Amino acid sequence: MLYYSDSMINKPNIREQTEKREEALSQYAAKSKFSRGRLKWEEPCPIRTSFQRDRDRIIHSKAFRRLKHKTQVFIAPMGDHYVTRLTHTLEVSQIARTIARALNLNEDLAEAIALGHDLGHTPFGHIGEEVINELYHGGFRHNEQSLRIVDLLEREGQGLNLTWEVRDGILNHSKGQAEILGEGWGDVSTLEGQICKIADIVAYVNHDVEDAIRAGIISQNELPEPVVATLGHAHSQRIDTLVCDIINCSWPVSGNGNLTNPTIGMSPEVLRATNILRQFLFDRVYYPSLAGEEAIKAGEVLRLLYSHFLKHEDRLPREFASLPDNKERKVIDYIAGMTDQYALRLAEEISQ
Ligand code: MG
Repeated sequence: MLYYSDSMINKPNIREQTEKREEALSQYAAKSKFSRGRLKWEEPCPIRTSFQRDRDRIIHSKAFRRLKHKTQVFIAPMGDHYVTRLTHTLEVSQIARTIARALNLNEDLAEAIALGHDLGHTPFGHIGEEVINELYHGGFRHNEQSLRIVDLLEREGQGLNLTWEVRDGILNHSKGQAEILGEGWGDVSTLEGQICKIADIVAYVNHDVEDAIRAGIISQNELPEPVVATLGHAHSQRIDTLVCDIINCSWPVSGNGNLTNPTIGMSPEVLRATNILRQFLFDRVYYPSLAGEEAIKAGEVLRLLYSHFLKHEDRLPREFASLPDNKERKVIDYIAGMTDQYALRLAEEISQ
């Protein structure tokens, strides 16, 4: 087996050239060369910066592949065009990259955070997260689980060993039900992390409207008037309005003034319309879906799996059985990582 190292590549060090180009980024950008580093030291890659390397590690992870079969809002929908956790992640990544590039921030870092942010989501979307949070005495939040996956669970307990900046962005992307940019919005240490946090909302308020219309839960003409008036009538218009507004209202794109606290922001008008749209989705789509028949079934499946594997720890796959944790935690890690279909299939097998 041939392993390449810096000295074996017969070209000037490409990573160093890229790091040099990053010097032209905004003074507020996170530069890969000045990353706070990884939990375990590694020889740098001769080609890719540390953030580019993190992005690739996430894409090649097993948890990333499983996003394809995880619910966003609608559980195991019958149509091919519903958003899944994977397509949501790709939308967040594209929106985040557009904003980062426009603001002359580090696009590679924004991309890596966006691709990793939802790795810890459970099967069956938010109902799955709620049920697992109830079952496990230590509590469960998908953002914390995303970090646990990249730090520990991937590569059979070795983790992906990502940089501090990507880990910080993944852990702090979540905002619960706090108003966008309001109290409780929470802190993330880089502007690229702030971009991902807001890009997540831009993606989901728009694709969830589309999916809810597709599912017949709402109709286009029920969208609140200030939303249509401010953000636009069509899906593409609304994303465009939001992305342009964020770019315009974030710390000035040009200008050399030293800001003590540069932030990613929105105009008051667009922010208000987005909060109205988000609340509308909670009232008409998210809360009702938590009480629906499918959600009840999803809860039953997860409870069954949890009690089964607590009783039969020996049936846990080796990669979970060998974790240095208590039984409950191992079972939660296994179940939380399942796709919707895998959880349904396994529950069916167990109950036969
Ligand atoms: Mg998300």
